[in-house]
Amino acid sequence: MTSTNLTSGERHCGCLLGLAIGDALGAAVEFSPPGSFKPVTGFRDGGPHGLKPGEWTDDTSMALALADSIVTVGWDLNDQARRYVDWWKRGKYSVNGVCFDIGITTRDALGAFVRTGDARSSASSHERSSGNGSIMRLAPVPIAFGNLYPARIEELSRLAAESSLPTHASAQCLSACRYMALVLAALMAGESRDEILAPNWSALDALRKVEPLHPAIDEVASGSFRRRKPPEIRGSGYVVHSLEAAMWAFHNAVDFSEAVLRAVNLGDDADTTGAVCGQLAGACWGVDGVPDQWRIGVAQCDMLTACADELGSQSCDG
Ligand code: MG
Ligand code: MG
Repeated sequence: MTSTNLTSGERHCGCLLGLAIGDALGAAVEFSPPGSFKPVTGFRDGGPHGLKPGEWTDDTSMALALADSIVTVGWDLNDQARRYVDWWKRGKYSVNGVCFDIGITTRDALGAFVRTGDARSSASSHERSSGNGSIMRLAPVPIAFGNLYPARIEELSRLAAESSLPTHASAQCLSACRYMALVLAALMAGESRDEILAPNWSALDALRKVEPLHPAIDEVASGSFRRRKPPEIRGSGYVVHSLEAAMWAFHNAVDFSEAVLRAVNLGDDADTTGAVCGQLAGACWGVDGVPDQWRIGVAQCDMLTACADELGSQSCDG
């Protein structure tokens, strides 16, 4: 059940905090094969980056960089890329002041951006460069531009796809961002989860009419997550797996914590599966649906809340 009496501010905050909480929950078991670790039930220290409980990784850092760009200059891909470089080179937006957990695709693209200054052409569009690095940070786009839904789906779709370009330019990544932004915007508009995830959702048809989705993403949007289960569902770094795994964890969960714990306990790229699922679950159940110990225990919770409020008051139209 989706709660229907939440304010948009509660959903905005849930979406961004959900991203950071899913990221932080998964960080302790990132790169661990499924079944090889004691199931995650809350924040833990350790993991490959030696973080403290509640600390988050690149997923949240890049979302904060994107959010900062949107609230500061509106919509400018080169500015977004410059802020990603500030994180990569100088540790800005990081939980501990240094850049860590950066993906190869992201680093290569930002390296190209430093040389050329053109974020639109800096990332590889090759199918092999289809990591989950742009869906993991997507939340600021539907939070700031969610008012384009449902009347201006084409605009929302364009901004979502463009947000991927500075680091992930493959057709699969662009389609994944277009679909996920639509789902997040609809959830934050208070529409029911069941309606949004139905294969015949009218807004999904409208999105396909703007431009067809990549077939692998369309398969997810058409409900592949309903008929598959682990080990066929995998929380890998591949954007199609990552989106499908997050949707699987979210689609029939009873609450926020069940959704994100299912996601991170897939292991592997657990922080990112958690971040993607956390955006969906937070948009659906709002910040009040987040268990208190996670809402308070996630690193820099006040800054994250303020960031979501600021993004949500943008009322931008790109
Ligand atoms: Mg990460
Ligand atoms: Mg990751």
